[in-house]
Amino acid sequence: MTAIRTLWALLGLVCLIGLAPAAKAAVEEPQIYYQPETATTSFAQLLASASSSWEQIPQGEAVSFGYTPQAYWFKVEVAASRSDRILYLGYPLLDSVDIYFVQNGAIIDQLLVGDNLPFAQRPILNKNFVIPMASRAEQTIYLRVRTESSLRFPLEIWQPAEFMQAQQYQVAATGLYFGLLLCMVVYNFFNYLVTREFSFLNYSAYTLSIGLLMAGLDGTGYQYLWPNWIWLQDRIVTMIGSVVFIFASLVTAGVLQTAQRSPRLHRGLQLFIGIYSVTFVLSIFLPYATLIPYVLGLAVTSCIYLLATGISLWTRGLTYARIYTLALGSLLFAITINALGYLGLFESVFVQRYAIMAASALEVLLLSWVLALRFNESRVEQLALKEKLNTQLESMVAQRTEELEQVMGRLQLANKELEQKSNEDGLTGLYNRRFLNQEFKREFGRAKRTGRDLTLMMLDIDHFKPLNDSFGHLCGDQVLVELARLLVSQLQRATDTVYRYGGEEFVILLPDTDEHGAREIAVKIGQAVRDHVFKTDQGEMKITISIGVAIAKPDMYKEPTQLLAAADDALYRAKNSGRDIVKVTTQIHEPEQANSR
Ligand code: GH3
Ligand code: MG
Ligand code: MG
Repeated sequence: MTAIRTLWALLGLVCLIGLAPAAKAAVEEPQIYYQPETATTSFAQLLASASSSWEQIPQGEAVSFGYTPQAYWFKVEVAASRSDRILYLGYPLLDSVDIYFVQNGAIIDQLLVGDNLPFAQRPILNKNFVIPMASRAEQTIYLRVRTESSLRFPLEIWQPAEFMQAQQYQVAATGLYFGLLLCMVVYNFFNYLVTREFSFLNYSAYTLSIGLLMAGLDGTGYQYLWPNWIWLQDRIVTMIGSVVFIFASLVTAGVLQTAQRSPRLHRGLQLFIGIYSVTFVLSIFLPYATLIPYVLGLAVTSCIYLLATGISLWTRGLTYARIYTLALGSLLFAITINALGYLGLFESVFVQRYAIMAASALEVLLLSWVLALRFNESRVEQLALKEKLNTQLESMVAQRTEELEQVMGRLQLANKELEQKSNEDGLTGLYNRRFLNQEFKREFGRAKRTGRDLTLMMLDIDHFKPLNDSFGHLCGDQVLVELARLLVSQLQRATDTVYRYGGEEFVILLPDTDEHGAREIAVKIGQAVRDHVFKTDQGEMKITISIGVAIAKPDMYKEPTQLLAAADDALYRAKNSGRDIVKVTTQIHEPEQANSR
C-alpha cells in the first residue's frame, strides 16, 4: 500500500516538474554585463565607464559568483517593446538589489529590493523579485547586488500575461511539494501519538525541518511564514540546515538500529548530532557568511556518512537499508547539486531548485516506507518474542507440574511409611496395639455381618521377668523378636495376623475360625514355642507361653471389648492352671457384671 501511494505521489511531482520548464519562456533575452564594485565606484562614474570594464554574460546563461562579500554591478540593455514588461530575478536570497532604470543617460526610475527588507515592501508580492518596468522604450537597467548568501543573478524579462501563466506551474509544484511534506509531518506525528514509537516523532520533525529549509531556500517561507522576520530569513539555511541533519541522524539511528547493529557507526551519528547542535547555536550568533561554507561542507560530509551507514547495514543483510540508501542517495545527489550551485560551480537555479525538491520529496516518501517496514518488523519481532515467552512459560509450567507431582508422590510414599511406622511395633516389626484396636473393630463388624466365627488369642510368655533379670533386657528383646518371627511362621492364612499387645504379650486375630480350628492352632503354637531354641547373645534359651483363646460366635459378643476381655480371662485361667497351657472360652463375659460383683 505504502509503495503504491509513494509511486503515485512521485509520479504527480515528476509530471509537474516536467511541465514547469515547458511553460518557461522569457519574452526577451537582454544583453547582460557585470563588474565587481570597487571602493571608488560612484554611479556617475559607472554610467560613464568604458564598455571594456564590463564583462558580458553569454546569452541564456545564468551566472553564479559563489559566496562573496563583494557587491556586483550588472548592466542590462533592453530594447524597446510594444507591451509592458517585468523584470524577474528568480533567486530569492539576495540581500539587497539597487535598481536604476536609465533612459538616454537619465535615471527614470529607481528602487531597492532584497530580503533585507520586509516582504511587504516588494513592488509585487512574489517569493522571487518581480519588478514592473515603467517604460516601454529602449533603456539600460543598472543593478547593484550585494548578498551574504551565494550570489546568483538569474535575470529575465517577461510580458505580464506570460509571466502569470508560467507562475501557475511554479506555484502548483511548490504547493504540491510543501503539501506532501506537511502531510508526512502530520501523518507521522499522529503515528507517533498512537504508537509512542520515537522514530515516527523524529521522522516527523525531520520532514518538518526539511520543509522549513526548503521554504527558506525557495523564498516561500519568507513570503508566507516569516515575512517580517529579516533576522531569521538571514540565517535560515545554517540554522534549519543544522536541525535537518540532527533529525536525519536520529531517524537513521532509529530506523537502522545502529545502536544494536553497529555501535561504531552509531557513535559517528552521535558525533554528527553533537556537531550540528554546535552549528545550530553558532548560527544564532555568527554572521551567515562566516558559517555557511562550513555548514555546506559538513552537509556533504554527513550525507556521505549517512549513505555509508546505509550501505554498510545493507551489505550486512538488513533489507530495508537498501531503500534507506536509495532515499538518502537521492537527497545526497540533490544536496551536492545545491552545494555546487551555492558555491558557484553549477549555474542552473532552475535545475537546482527542482532537483532538491524532487529529491527531498522522494527521500521523504521512501523514508516513510522504510519506517513502516521497520515498524512492522519490530511488531513481528515482538509477536515472535511473545510466542517464545509463551512456550517458555508453558514448558516451565509443565516442568513445575512434573516436579510437583514428583514431590507429591514422594510425600504420599512418606505418608504411607509414616502410617506403617505408626501401626508397627518398633522392636518386633509386628503390628502394634493401636493397629489392633482399629483392625479388630473392623474384623468384629465383618464377622457379625457374615455370621462367621472370629477367634482372638492372647499369648503371654511364662516367667519372662526372671529371664530378663538373669540375662538382661537385651537378651529378653532378642527372645521377643525371635518369638514374633516364630508366631508369624505358624500362621497359614493371609488374614491371620499377629499383634504385639504390649510387653511380652501378643494377640493373634483369626477371622473365620471356629473353636475347633482355634484350639488346634493354639496347641500347635504352644508346641512350636516349647520346641524352639531361642538363640541370643547370652546363649540358647527355652521358653513357654500361656495362651487364652476367645471365640466369637455370631451375635454372642455385642462389643469388641467383650471378646478381648474373654481372651484375657482365658489367659488368666491358663496362668493359674500352671502355665504353658491353652485355655479356650466361648462364654459371654460381661466385664460390667464382673466389676459389679
Ligand atoms: P508370668 O507371666 O508367667 O506370670 O511371669 P512373668 O515373669 O512373665 O511376669 P509378668 O508378665 O508380670 O512380667 C512381664 C515382664 O516382661 C516384665 C519385664 O521384665 C518383661 N518385659 C515386658 N516388656 C519387655 C520388653 O519389651 N523387653 C524385655 N526384655 N522384657 C520385657
Ligand atoms: Mg505379662
Ligand atoms: Mg509373662
